[in-house]
Amino acid sequence: MSERIILRNGTVVTLNDDDDVHFGGTVVIEGDRIAYVGPDDVPADGARVIDVTDRIVMPGLVDFHYHTALGKGWSDHLPLWEYLQTCWYPMIRALDEESAYWAALASYSESVKCGVTAVNDMYRQLGALADAAERIGIRAVLSNDVATDEHDLDTLADNERAFRERNGSADGRIKVLVGIEWLPLASVELLRDARALANDLGTGIHIHLNESLSEVEISKEMFGRRPTEVAYDTGILGPDCIAAHCVWLSDAEIALMRETRTHISHNPSSNAKLGNGVARLPELLAAGLNVGLGHDAAECNNSRDMFEVMKFASLMHRATRVDASLGQAPDILRMACRNGNVGLGIDAGELAAGKKADMIVVDTRSQMFTPLMPESKDHVYSHLVFAANGSCVETTIVDGRVIYENREFTTIDEGEVLREANRAFREVIARMDVPDLESVRRS
Ligand SMILES: [Zn+2]
Repeated sequence: MSERIILRNGTVVTLNDDDDVHFGGTVVIEGDRIAYVGPDDVPADGARVIDVTDRIVMPGLVDFHYHTALGKGWSDHLPLWEYLQTCWYPMIRALDEESAYWAALASYSESVKCGVTAVNDMYRQLGALADAAERIGIRAVLSNDVATDEHDLDTLADNERAFRERNGSADGRIKVLVGIEWLPLASVELLRDARALANDLGTGIHIHLNESLSEVEISKEMFGRRPTEVAYDTGILGPDCIAAHCVWLSDAEIALMRETRTHISHNPSSNAKLGNGVARLPELLAAGLNVGLGHDAAECNNSRDMFEVMKFASLMHRATRVDASLGQAPDILRMACRNGNVGLGIDAGELAAGKKADMIVVDTRSQMFTPLMPESKDHVYSHLVFAANGSCVETTIVDGRVIYENREFTTIDEGEVLREANRAFREVIARMDVPDLESVRRS
């Protein structure tokens, strides 16, 4: 871990407070931290030198709301409630440690290839997920799918055990939060207990909130209030809480998010695919909330490419508000790279001396980045958000370690991962206990 790496002669997008971009710049990594960022070259002095001519060096993307996935492209046609009842829950109930391990490696490997350095992953079998994250080298914040007992998912005891066994492992790259699936599978008691556990452990909470109109209606039926009001009353919200989706927030609920300084993961492509609507992103940002971006899950997005999510995060709001001033490229890039790190308490998200060395190298020698005006910051930002996709990522570095280089993994056999994930999928499908669709439809 003590390797010294010099990335030389690149376009260095720092995303620091001064918004510095160094053309022909240098980044020096020592161990797990950045030692220098700037316009000057530095002597090699025995360091490993990576020539990044015609490349962009920038902070890695953070996928702020994530589920390891195994069942992509299965039951794609269903709305959220029916999809969850007949596909997602039966599938994750049939998951064992081995299938979770290969599902996580397949998931994390697509993320790493697309420039993601940290994921906020709510799933099951956290030991297997931690093993997968440790092997591939990604930074993973893990939480369980906790629900009340009758739903046969995870319990707070499962989550506590995972925290005690894996939090802080892999040189601190793995963290464990308390996960709450969502309010329709929760009770007031469970929510209060989740907050108490998080406080006892000194960790945070990851929860789905206000994702769909049906969730809001169910919350009113079950609890007499809207989801974020229930989360507020039970103590779930706070500066250590990441609330995913938040599509259908009332003004009063936005005020509760603001009062508690809760972080929000905006997942526009998942919301679009599942027909859940368009979040009130302009109002969330106007309220000063920290909003990061997430792909959600490959089951409800079919791609883990965060470059695609960035484009959705801009274009959906421009389209629905008829306003091209929304979602400007530099702001979207910061949401994807900086805000997720803030919410997860990771000391990364900008290229600056002293920060964690989580970064990516983007190849500009393609049509995606052509034309490219020399030394034009605006042009670089525009191409990254509106023109690029994950295939432009050439190298991914996490904690100072090169885990993907020149489009090849240094830590896993990609072919093996894909083969094993396919096998795991078939085995899980064979074990699934799927209820009849009509029996789960809400009238
Ligand atoms: Zn989700």
